Amino acid sequence: MEGSFMQDSRSRYDAVIIGARCAGASTAMLLARAGARVLLFDRGRYGTDIVSTHALMRAGVLQLERWGLLSRIMAAGTPPVGRTTFHYGREIIPIDIRPEHGIGHLCAPRRSLLDRVLVDAATEAGAEVRHGVSLTDLQFGPDGRVTGAILRESNGESVAVGSGIVIGADGRQSMVARRLDAPTYVEGASASACVYGYYANMPDDGYHWYFENDTAAGAIPTNDDQHCVFVGVPRDRFAETFRGNLEGGFLRMAAANSPGLRADIGKARRVSRLRGFAGGAGYLRQSYGPGWALVGDAGYFKDPITAHGITDALRDAELLSRAVLDGGARSLARYQDERDALSRPLLDVTDTIASFDWTLDEVKDHHVRLSDAMKAEANHVAGLSTLDALGER
Ligand SMILES: Cc1cc2nc3c(=O)[nH]c(=O)nc-3n(C[C@H](O)[C@H](O)[C@H](O)COP(=O)(O)OP(=O)(O)OC[C@H]3O[C@@H](n4cnc5c(N)ncnc54)[C@H](O)[C@@H]3O)c2cc1C
Repeated sequence: MEGSFMQDSRSRYDAVIIGARCAGASTAMLLARAGARVLLFDRGRYGTDIVSTHALMRAGVLQLERWGLLSRIMAAGTPPVGRTTFHYGREIIPIDIRPEHGIGHLCAPRRSLLDRVLVDAATEAGAEVRHGVSLTDLQFGPDGRVTGAILRESNGESVAVGSGIVIGADGRQSMVARRLDAPTYVEGASASACVYGYYANMPDDGYHWYFENDTAAGAIPTNDDQHCVFVGVPRDRFAETFRGNLEGGFLRMAAANSPGLRADIGKARRVSRLRGFAGGAGYLRQSYGPGWALVGDAGYFKDPITAHGITDALRDAELLSRAVLDGGARSLARYQDERDALSRPLLDVTDTIASFDWTLDEVKDHHVRLSDAMKAEANHVAGLSTLDALGER
């Protein structure tokens, strides 16, 4: 399958991308900016939230800045985050965000904002973007290569579209990965569960991450002067902690992490319902083959306890776009290798933290490891050159 995926006159599209959120919309934007004919679609609605908190780390903010989109996110009233405070039991360690790679703050835009900005940027770059459209199957050539996708329109009509490459950005339950039997070659051993909601009138001084024996919590400042507040427990304690009384379990876990957090919540006003995530172990999946690739959670997932999935999805959108524009199996293999080299340390330490099998001193050490992996990732992203247009490659 050597050769370009792009500009094959037999296909209507150079790239068809399933899933229009942080991984898929970014990939569509980058490919369209380079001149590719892109179809991006999602079965969900435009500009909506999904079950996810949304703290971005430095490499993610850096990607938004490199793509010229950070100003839009901030202009929408996203609060800049200048400090991260870790609470280990009663020990409090505040860390100021130092300017590095031109980034002087972090931020946590709501997904309804972040994903919309990315989708709009894809549209502006010339991608055809459709919502309310579902993938129902893939199309294959006689040699087994993926040659297109079969979609179901919102009116129930089935449509086949040909493409140089089909990209699954369709999340953890990826239908593309399932249809292709994409093997999982790394599987995490642990998983955390969490419950979160939005509060108005919380004190705003950056990200707060709380750790106690067998539980964790966090407060993340976001749009509309609200905070996303979550509590986490080991996956096997989800049912006993929350079943039958979500709010009771949530408040108990907040208090167990920090009486200060419980007091802040008590003074604040909850402005959303509480939402739960029962947990899922991390993985790395085979993410390319003849005529196809996976990006974002479809190919690589890690427990949300380190709040790093969106940052990595933005990173991998860039790595995959480069590979697709370069063309050929070797480029896609390099994409996967590069992704894995950056992701393994993050995945490993996340899995350890999600096990809750640590003392407060140990989890502090795990966070040092996490910080080293995040620095290596930010350095890598900062070192990437600007993407060239198709004709200039
Ligand atoms: C509880 C929780 C908290 C989290 N907190 C954070 C955090 O604080 N920070 C962070 O960086 N990350 C966090 N994450 C991780 C983050 O949510 C994911 O890494 C991120 O959403 C991955 O983006 P994606 O674009 O790959 O997939 P998704 O965001 O899952 O998007 C996939 C899209 O594909 C569409 N789709 C699926 N199947 C089809 C189909 N057949 N046809 C058409 N469309 C389809 C879906 O409708 C969906 O819109 C959290 C995750 C969870 C679960």
